Amino acid sequence: MTQTSDRIESLVSEKRVKKHVFYPSKREIWTVVGKGKEHWLDPEAEYCSCPGFYFGNISSKKSCYHLESAKLAIQKNMYEKVEFSDDEYSDFICSLLSDL
Ligand SMILES: [Zn+2]
Repeated sequence: MTQTSDRIESLVSEKRVKKHVFYPSKREIWTVVGKGKEHWLDPEAEYCSCPGFYFGNISSKKSCYHLESAKLAIQKNMYEKVEFSDDEYSDFICSLLSDL
């Protein structure tokens, strides 16, 4: 498990956890930038878009390291906050989804 916690630590310390906030609605989208891929996650709903989460969740109800990183980043207040306007919301979702 040491490897996983190292991975979580480095994701957090490199500020790869991002919170995207859309104004004026204040909708929030969380992402974690992994190896060349950006994953969409929801720390409150315990959801991540990566395959590891999908399969891990089916077999053992285990969350993935992106989700763990996001929780740690929130706890330590070490995430990157990016602000957008609501006009950009649908484009943002589209690019996120095409990336998956
Ligand atoms: Zn994940």
